[in-house]
Amino acid sequence: MQIDAQPPTAWSAQQLTVAAYRLAAQSAPCGIFMCDSRGVFTMVNPAYERLTGYEAAQLVGKLCLDALLDPSELALRRAELWNPPVRDVVAVQPEGSLTAAHGMEAEWTYLRPNGMRATVAQALTRLCDARGNILGYVGTAFENPRRQRDALPLWHLLHHDPLTGLPNQELLEERLGLALERARRTNEPVLLALLELDNLRTLRDSLGQAAADAAVKHVAARLKRLCGDDQLLGVMRGSLFAIISTGHHTLASDRELALLAEVSRPIPFISSTLHMTASIGVSSHPSAGSEPRALFQRALLALNAASRSGGGVARHFDFGMQTQSARRAHLESLLREAVDARQFSLAYQPQIHLESGRITRTETLLRWKHHQLGAIGPAEFVPMAEDLGLMEELGAWVLDAACQQVVRLLAKFGHAPCMAINVSPAQLRDRKLSGVVADALERWQLPPGSIELEITEGLLLDNTHQVIDTLHNLRKLGVEIAIDDFGTGYSSLAYLTRFPVNRIKIDRALVRALSSAQKGDAVIRAIIEMAHALGIQVTAEGVETAAHARRLSELGCDEAQGFWFSRPLTAQALENALAPIG
Ligand code: C2E
Ligand code: CA
Ligand code: CA
Repeated sequence: MQIDAQPPTAWSAQQLTVAAYRLAAQSAPCGIFMCDSRGVFTMVNPAYERLTGYEAAQLVGKLCLDALLDPSELALRRAELWNPPVRDVVAVQPEGSLTAAHGMEAEWTYLRPNGMRATVAQALTRLCDARGNILGYVGTAFENPRRQRDALPLWHLLHHDPLTGLPNQELLEERLGLALERARRTNEPVLLALLELDNLRTLRDSLGQAAADAAVKHVAARLKRLCGDDQLLGVMRGSLFAIISTGHHTLASDRELALLAEVSRPIPFISSTLHMTASIGVSSHPSAGSEPRALFQRALLALNAASRSGGGVARHFDFGMQTQSARRAHLESLLREAVDARQFSLAYQPQIHLESGRITRTETLLRWKHHQLGAIGPAEFVPMAEDLGLMEELGAWVLDAACQQVVRLLAKFGHAPCMAINVSPAQLRDRKLSGVVADALERWQLPPGSIELEITEGLLLDNTHQVIDTLHNLRKLGVEIAIDDFGTGYSSLAYLTRFPVNRIKIDRALVRALSSAQKGDAVIRAIIEMAHALGIQVTAEGVETAAHARRLSELGCDEAQGFWFSRPLTAQALENALAPIG
């Protein structure tokens, strides 16, 4: 074969060399890149695009080499990156106007945009002019698959949640910091969503740790499928998941609903199924600023607001939440003092037997009057007392005060309406409850039928042996059990057969629907018929109009309570209401 010794006429030897280098860079199996004196990319080859996961257009003129490296590693080794130990210095141009200082090859951890890491061997060469001014850098980089395998387990262990295998809090915080850093330059939105399972504690209490772990793992896998590689999903702790999204992935408005729907699909567990719900709190950059901690705190406030509203919903941060949270913190500190100082009283709301029009029962409602803040409603402070672990003590006080009131009424009139007392979830989960009730009845020498305990519908869904045992013990004592707020939760009458229940109290939301539609009628009629078939009495709550009272009576409702009959009364006003006329 003959080789033409002459280069093509239009090409100088230097041009050919440049073209050859370009081609070599295009096809080289290792990454080659150039940066300007500030470290911003000016050229990258396809192997470097593959290595970093970024396209040339995202790097050139936009990002600095710093931005691609693991920030915690960079914080420790930044000087080594830009001033590496030099292997040799060469004059690139014969006259020495351009010199290159070849840096030693060193290992660096690259962070890819999909969240994966790569351990990369990288050599950076500094280009200087005759006076030593830095003109730019040229680098080579390749991934060492053997090192990659060796490095993975320890790194993985330190940065991932052991149960789900998802990134842990440390890694999430780091990534969020990075995303915010980038967002500062690109003005792209960054969104942080925190998702927590609402009923994990209950599940753990009732079915044990294995069930709770199975639920978290299932949910993690489902969320991972939904988030794909574009959003970073991790676990902050326990069942608190975090999702970081950037750019256009932050915009889909139905995203949160999709997440909630995924969580609430039944989860198979041994031979049964688990039913979970979740709450979501969302905050975003730029409105929250560029501090990762600010974003987390705001998302957490929104999450708390979502959980407190009953769960199963997503809330976006708003400034009102900050005010609410400050008030909550203030009230919490006052509440501890109030429990110690007994700043509480009871109000009594009559329940009317619809057929006879007589007061057969009264519900005790807790009241807290603070000398500066005034009256604070139980809907606000009872959940707080639960969270603070104060409810058992406060509940025992309510029980005692209610019994004392029955004794007073008996002494005055010789008879008294049955006293309905609200029992919070924390009290019912406490094994001591039936003992506390028995002690109070004995102390005040009351027959057990003189009190009724109201428990919320949701508690029955817990379905724990402990709750069922406690309810049976209370029934054995002779105390009556009513299901409060019936119709607000999962309202399956079927489960009532499994619990020793005397009465259901239809929630006022259902009562309100009476006037608005025929359907309202049908629901209440069905509840009453089924309850009666099971031997369970029915009380309607929140009866505010004569029309409602009449309709309930026609539908066969046994008793009714609400402003139409009476607002909650002081002890004195209750005595007046019970006093015989004339
Ligand atoms: P609940 O057990 O459903 O109590 C009924 C609530 O509805 C009371 O609010 C009562 O004032 C209100 N209400 C009564 N009739 C009507 C009406 O016709 N229309 C309207 N719109 N409302 C009516 P309150 O006193 O603010 O109590 C709120 C919740 O706080 C109670 O709901 C109960 O869940 C809780 N709570 C109150 N006292 C206690 C207590 O001693 N222990 C526990 N664990 N929770 C309590
Ligand atoms: Ca109640
Ligand atoms: Ca109620």
